[in-house]
Amino acid sequence: MTPAIDVLVVGLGPAGSRAAWAAARAGLSVLAIERKPRIGEPVQCAELVPMALEQELPQLGRATVQSIEAMHTYIEDGACDVAPHFPGAMLDRRRFDAALADAARTAGADCRCGIAFQSLEQGGAVRLNDGSRIHAGVIIGADGPRSRIGRLAGRSNRELLEARQVSVPLTHRHAATDIFLSCNIPGGYGWLFPKGDVAHVGAGVAPAARAQLRKIVERLHAKLAAQGRVGTSVLERTGGAIPASGMLDPIARLGETPVLLAGDAAGLTNPVTGAGIAAAVYSGALAGEAAAAWLAGKRNALHDYRDELQCIFGAALERALSRRRALAQAQRNGEVLSRAAQRRGWIAYPEYWTA
Ligand SMILES: Cc1cc2nc3c(=O)[nH]c(=O)nc-3n(C[C@H](O)[C@H](O)[C@H](O)COP(=O)(O)OP(=O)(O)OC[C@H]3O[C@@H](n4cnc5c(N)ncnc54)[C@H](O)[C@@H]3O)c2cc1C
Repeated sequence: MTPAIDVLVVGLGPAGSRAAWAAARAGLSVLAIERKPRIGEPVQCAELVPMALEQELPQLGRATVQSIEAMHTYIEDGACDVAPHFPGAMLDRRRFDAALADAARTAGADCRCGIAFQSLEQGGAVRLNDGSRIHAGVIIGADGPRSRIGRLAGRSNRELLEARQVSVPLTHRHAATDIFLSCNIPGGYGWLFPKGDVAHVGAGVAPAARAQLRKIVERLHAKLAAQGRVGTSVLERTGGAIPASGMLDPIARLGETPVLLAGDAAGLTNPVTGAGIAAAVYSGALAGEAAAAWLAGKRNALHDYRDELQCIFGAALERALSRRRALAQAQRNGEVLSRAAQRRGWIAYPEYWTA
């Protein structure tokens, strides 16, 4: 007999750990699997979250390396535009992800590393890469931007930004996130995020500009080093994919089994900023609660999950998508982006927020 559990959570990033935590807290039997050998490693992130996340995770402070007060935006090497109130926290993402998984374990979830979802068999059993099979009442797909669960269920992120980052020594303490908007960083932006005595310097670009990405980041690093803001050495390199086509329908079925997608797997990352940690945390917890409600017999629970995500994230994602599309269209037309167009496409400017 194939063993049965209430909930299988695939992926133990922030979305999966919160889903496992919420489902276990509701008294369900939960197996949560992560294909990497260690939670949160390697880190593929610039590690900035809005300070408001502390309301959901009071323990955020323990994973915070430094706080952020403001956002500094530079358009095409022009003067710095200061947005003074952009409170954020620079995380130690490794510690953050590990702490969320620990909380799920403490709530009773069976969290295992080095185990990957492999396939769904006829009859509904899930096959894992260690050869074991399992029946789950609900599957939560929290397996990131290239979600396999999503793909099997017919829900895939259509566009993925490519991001690349170097961590370098920071020469002067800094409490703002620096954003670099330029026609030379197509479909994205460059950043310097300070994290104590280190800075993350990176860029994200549209898929068509992927081949230029390494040079873009090297140039940004060289420029900041020439200004004396960062050192020339590179301490670490990372990168990854960021969903940029907006929210997917987060509910589906694999065979008879209901599936809930959360975090990047549900396309909840902001297509303009690339921020997705907070959305992963919120949506993961909601997915775990929805699974519990559905298994308790609340037949609307899955649709309620979709409605809640739409309510919380829908408007912000729609706005970001429309700003992103407008910039992409202008670039496709061969236009040199005006300063006004760049301002309208970035969250630090009031124009971004007007209709
Ligand atoms: C370079 C870069 C910089 C970023 N910077 C920021 C930032 O500063 N702030 C911010 O808010 N967001 C940032 N993001 C986005 C952020 O990292 C994601 O939105 C966030 O990690 C989403 O969490 P998640 O749990 O949905 O997915 P993930 O964190 O991707 O977790 C998914 C997990 O599923 C596992 N997995 C995948 N397939 C399987 C399988 N078949 N079986 C088992 N496990 C599987 C993966 O190994 C992974 O651990 C950045 C992204 C990149 C690439």
